[in-house]
Formats: sequence, structure tokens, C-alpha cells
Amino acid sequence: MPQNYDVVIIGGGVVGCMTARFLSRTSLSILLIEKDADIGMGASSANSAIVHAGYDPVPGSLKAKTNVAANAIWDTVAGELSIPFDRRGDYVVAVGSEELPGLEKLLEQGRQNGVPGMHIISAEEMRHREPNINPAVSGALWAPTGGICDPFMATVAAAENAVQNGVTLLLETAFEGFILDGRKVAGVHTSRGDFGCRWVINAAGMYADAVMHKAGTHPEFKITPRRGEYMILDKAEITINNVLFPVPSEKGKGILVTASLHGNTLVGPNAQVLDDPEDTAVTREGLDDTWSGARKLIPGLSPRGVIAVFAGLRAMGNAPCKTPGVDYHHDFLIECDAEVQGLINLGGIESPGLTAAPAIALMVMDLMKEAGEKLEYKRSWNPIRPPRPRFHELNREAQDALIRQDPRYGRMICRCEEITEGEIVAEIHAPIPARTYDAIKRRTWLGTGRCLGSFDMPRVVEILSRELGVSPFEITKKGHNSAFLQRETKNLEA
Ligand SMILES: Cc1cc2nc3c(=O)[nH]c(=O)nc-3n(C[C@H](O)[C@H](O)[C@H](O)COP(=O)(O)OP(=O)(O)OC[C@H]3O[C@@H](n4cnc5c(N)ncnc54)[C@H](O)[C@@H]3O)c2cc1C
Repeated sequence: MPQNYDVVIIGGGVVGCMTARFLSRTSLSILLIEKDADIGMGASSANSAIVHAGYDPVPGSLKAKTNVAANAIWDTVAGELSIPFDRRGDYVVAVGSEELPGLEKLLEQGRQNGVPGMHIISAEEMRHREPNINPAVSGALWAPTGGICDPFMATVAAAENAVQNGVTLLLETAFEGFILDGRKVAGVHTSRGDFGCRWVINAAGMYADAVMHKAGTHPEFKITPRRGEYMILDKAEITINNVLFPVPSEKGKGILVTASLHGNTLVGPNAQVLDDPEDTAVTREGLDDTWSGARKLIPGLSPRGVIAVFAGLRAMGNAPCKTPGVDYHHDFLIECDAEVQGLINLGGIESPGLTAAPAIALMVMDLMKEAGEKLEYKRSWNPIRPPRPRFHELNREAQDALIRQDPRYGRMICRCEEITEGEIVAEIHAPIPARTYDAIKRRTWLGTGRCLGSFDMPRVVEILSRELGVSPFEITKKGHNSAFLQRETKNLEA
């Protein structure tokens, strides 16, 4: 007999984890499955980290609706879950007079979408607000509700809060197929056996189309991977305090230059349509493209400041917008499946999916209610996920107190980002234990400075091995096939 849950959520990205977190308020029993070694290893860990204001999506689309609705609740969600978030506003910068009409178009679109507080500022004002900006700036659109967040912690915090409220999380558990009772969901086959359930929430990101096809529904729905490549600049190189977008083109929002919450400047992403849903390689051409896009906004950027590069894959869908009269074919697909009872599809969740995730989660609950599910709220639900100490953010007195309490906070493991052993150990024993190097990196920002982990890596392997009680040979960078150590080099007995 398979173990039974009311709901199985497929995919531990920000969308699946936020959905689990909001649904954990109800008395439903919930299983969240993720095929990888950690949550948030897909698109949710490789994006621009922007909480979008909502002027970019096509009016009437689900992208627009969920973006604007979620933006309004981000302060609450980030506050409850202790997700680092800074609503510092954002700019769309026109360079040359020919780009100015683009700002008017976005302003009008933003108004239609219900984005508050936007207005166009002069070139002079933009130069004053961002002294590094291209002197050929002709004006900018200012959106005060835009912001930046820590996307890794958005996923981790939502999942942790879900788990603290009773959700079961199984990592390294791949969905393999449906158990159907006629055209009704009865369970799922996974790489860890079968689980019975009444609802399946398909939050499988790049593979959401494959999940639908396994249920024999939406044969026309297809996800196309669209890669975006980034460069990260050293903190010491240049300080950009703003979020700067170019005027968008047919290809998308374009290459932005943005501050990050960790103090680095991030530039990217370009946009390349691919066939391979796993191809996160960076390319010479892609990086050149990214660099020239960034230099258009900030000509003073120097390539010497680049300390890391990475790429993320957007899961571009082909769902038509359901609002009559809106001709748009890359909308989010958020629905109770019309053919398979109990299946909720969240497909084509590309940008602004990180921003929109809390609103998507609330929409899922509405869809379940509309389908007749009685959602009973638990009195015991705790919406708060307490933060763990971040040593370098504390003042001297607080640091001393922490070290007295636990001397491991006095041992610096990552010198560039100032991450201590105490913080690493706390993540290994957190409600969702960090069991790989990258899991610790995503949660603490360790290994992201100029030395890119050369100092901390051997020590982190040692700490993981000690705390998890396993051989150092079993410690991996990111799970399957990524062990750091291959063999002993000084085994005198051999
Ligand atoms: C380059 C780029 C820039 C972006 N910038 C922004 C931005 O600034 N702001 C913004 O709001 N949005 C942005 N986005 C979009 C945002 O990152 C995504 O919309 C969001 O992360 C999608 O989350 P998700 O949970 O749907 O997908 P994912 O994070 O990809 O998660 C899906 C999960 O499902 C799992 N899965 C798949 N198949 C199975 C299976 N068979 N069994 C079990 N698990 C499975 C995967 O392993 C994965 O962990 C950007 C995206 C990219 C790529």
C-alpha cells in the first residue's frame, strides 16, 4: 500500500516551495518532492534576484496579474520568512532620444497593470541618482516598488517554514508518472516508490510540460529553454547602488546592471533559445553579448572586476493569455487541469516567476477551493521562520556574545565573505539540512568572493564530513557525481 497524502507537489523551486508554505496553513497533508540533492537548484538559483514592479508583462496576462499582486505582499512574506529583501526601486534607462518613447510605453503598461508610483525622470536626475550611468542617458522610468532579494533564501525559507508546519520534503525523489483512477489523480510513481494523493501540483519548472504529458494532457504545451548568462563583479571594483534595466526589446527585458544584496554588481542576462533543458554552460559569445549590453548602461565597467560567471535557464512556455483580446502566447499556465481531475499545472513560469511565486501559491489555493476542496486553516500554523545569525552583519558586542555562546562562530571559514564555522554548522543542522557544498553556499553566500572558495572548500568538506558523520569522500559539490575527493594521495600503507 502506498503512503497517502492529500497533496503531492512536484518540484522544489521557489514556486513549489512557496506553494508548500502557503498550503501548510491548511490541514491538508502535503508531500513536496524534488529530484535534485537540494531545493532551489533550478531556475530559482540562477536569476537576477529582482522583485519586479510589474510594468513589463503584457497587460491582462497572468504574468502581469501575479507579478503586481505578489509585489504588494513581498514585504510581509519576506518579513515573516526572514528573506533578505530591499525595496529600493528600479529604473529603465533610455540611452539616446530614440529610446525615450519606449519609456512612455512602459509607463502606460505599468499603469494598466496597476503598478503604483511610477514616473519618468530627466536625464539630469538620472545622472544625479546614478553617477556611473552612460552620459548619453536621455531619461529613465522610475518604479519605486521594484526591489532586490536573496533568491536562494526565498526558496529555502519558504521550504523550511513549510516543513516546520508539517510538510514532508523528500529530496532526490523524482516524479516518474501518475497513478490515475480514470481521469482522476490517485497518486504518483516516484524514484522512491508510489505515493497516494488526491491532488498533484505540477511545479516542475523546465519539466512541467513533461509532467502534463505523462498525465496525457496538454500535448500542445511545450517548454523551450532560454538561457541567460551573467557576470558578477567584485565588490571592490565598482559600486552600483541601483537596479538598472535597458529599454526592453522584442527579445525581452534586456541586459541589466544591478546591485545585489551581497554588495556585488551583477550584469546580465542575455537570451539564447536552446534545445537542451540542462545546458547551463556559459559561452564566449554569450558573455560578450552580456558585457556589451551592460556597458551600454554603465560604460565604466571594467572586465578586470569580473570574478564569476554563470547561466540560468528560463522555462519559456507557449500558453496563450486567456484574457479576451490579448494576443500573447508566452503566458504563465496556472490552472486546474480541465481533463485530469486533481492536477494543478504551473507551467511556463519564467520571469517574473520569482517575484510572482507567493501570488501563484495563493492562486493555487483559490483554484483548489473553486474545485470544491474545503481548506481548513490550522490554528497551530506558524508563519514565522526565524533568521539564523549572520556573523558579519552583527556589531562587535553581538559577535562577542555569539562566540561566548558557541566558539565555532569565532572560526572564520570563508575569509572573503566572512562566514564562520558556526554559521555552516547551523545550516547543516537546519530544518532542511544543507548536505552539499553548494547547499551551504546558497544559504550563506560562502565561496562567492574573489577567491571563489579556494580557502574555504577543504574546510567545508571537513565540517560537512564531521557533522554528517560520513567519509569526506562522500561529500559532494551538488549531489550526484560531484564528489570533491577521488583518492588518498598519502596513504603510506598502500
Ligand atoms: C536568467 C533568468 C533571470 C531571471 N530573473 C528573474 C528576476 O529577476 N525576477 C523574477 O521574478 N524572476 C526571474 N526569473 C524567473 C525565475 O527565476 C523563475 O520564474 C523561477 O525561479 C521559477 O521557479 P520554479 O520553481 O517554477 O522553477 P525551478 O526553480 O526550475 O524549480 C523546478 C524544480 O522542479 C524540479 N523537478 C523537475 N522535474 C522533476 C521531477 N520529475 N521530479 C521531481 N522534481 C522535479 C527541478 O529539479 C527544480 O528544482 C529569471 C529566470 C532566469 C532563468
